[in-house]
Amino acid sequence: MEKLRHIVSTRQFADTQLLEVLLDSAAKMEAADKLRELPQSMRGLILATLFYEPSTRTRFSFEAAMQKLGGSVLTAENARESSSSTKGESITDTIRIVNGYADAIAMRHYQEGAAKIAAEASLVPLINAGDGAGEHPTQALGDIFTIRKELGKVEGLKVALIGDLLYGRTIHSLLPLLSLYKDVEVSLISPPSLRLPEKYTRELTERGVSFVETDRLAWAIERADVLYVTRVQRERFASDEEYERVKDAYVIDAAIADALKKKAIIMHALPRLGEISPEVDANYRAAYFRQAKNALYIRMALLDYLLG
Ligand code: ASP
Repeated sequence: MEKLRHIVSTRQFADTQLLEVLLDSAAKMEAADKLRELPQSMRGLILATLFYEPSTRTRFSFEAAMQKLGGSVLTAENARESSSSTKGESITDTIRIVNGYADAIAMRHYQEGAAKIAAEASLVPLINAGDGAGEHPTQALGDIFTIRKELGKVEGLKVALIGDLLYGRTIHSLLPLLSLYKDVEVSLISPPSLRLPEKYTRELTERGVSFVETDRLAWAIERADVLYVTRVQRERFASDEEYERVKDAYVIDAAIADALKKKAIIMHALPRLGEISPEVDANYRAAYFRQAKNALYIRMALLDYLLG
C-alpha cells in the first residue's frame, strides 16, 4: 500500500484498504481518549491550520486532534483577511513559507482546486480541509467512520443524499468512498437546479454504483438507511434571490424522522439551518452531533498516519 503524502481528494483512495486502516485507528483513538491514554505521537510537531473560509468543527477538531496527541498548532482562522493573501501573495508562495514553520498544513480555501495547487507546492503533508465547492475529504472519512459505528457496516446500505448536491463538497467527497463498498445504493435528492454535477454522476456510473436522481424526498423516507442532509450553500450562489428560491426545498421535521426505518440514521455535516428542525435532535436517529465528534478521531488517525 503506497503511503499518501497529502490528502487532497477521496479519489486518492483506490480501495477500502487504507480507509479501513484509518477507521480502525480512529476507533483506537476514541477508546484511548476515553481512558485519557492517547499516544503522544505528535510531540514536538506543529500543525498549521490555514483557513480562508469560515469553520467551526473542522478547524477546532484538527487543532484538538493535534493537541490531544501532544503536538501544537499555528492557526490563521481568517486567512482571507489576515494573511498575506490580501497583499496578493499566491497560494504557492504562502505554502512555501508555512513549510518553514510547520510539519503539516490543514488548509481550507474558497477556490475549488486550491488544495491541489497547495499540495503540489508543499514539502510537508497538506490536508484539504475544504476547497470551495470542490471537496472536503476529511469530512467524508469521518462520515464513513460514523456510518460504520452507527450501523456496523457500509456494504449494502441505501444512502440518500439530500439538498445542495451541486455545491455540497461533503457529498463530492463522500460518493467516491461509498463507491468502494459493495452494493451501496445511492439516491440523489435535490431541486433540479442543485443536482449533482454531471462529472460526478458519470463517475458513479463508471464505478458501477447504482443510483437514482430525483427531487422527491418521499422516495427516500421508507428506503434509506442513511439520510444525509446538506445545507444549501448560500455563499456559492450568484444571487440572494436564487438562494431564497431553493433554501427551504427540504425540511426534515419530527414526523419525517419518525417515519424513517427503525435503524436509519440522519446525518449532516453541519452547520444546519432550516433543513433539519431542532425537534429532530431528540430522535435517536439524529446522528449529526455524534458525527461531528467522530471527526475528531478520524483527524487524529489521519495526523498519525501522515506524521507518525
Ligand atoms: N461544514 C461543511 C463544509 O464546510 C458543510 C457546510 O458548510 O454546509 O463543507
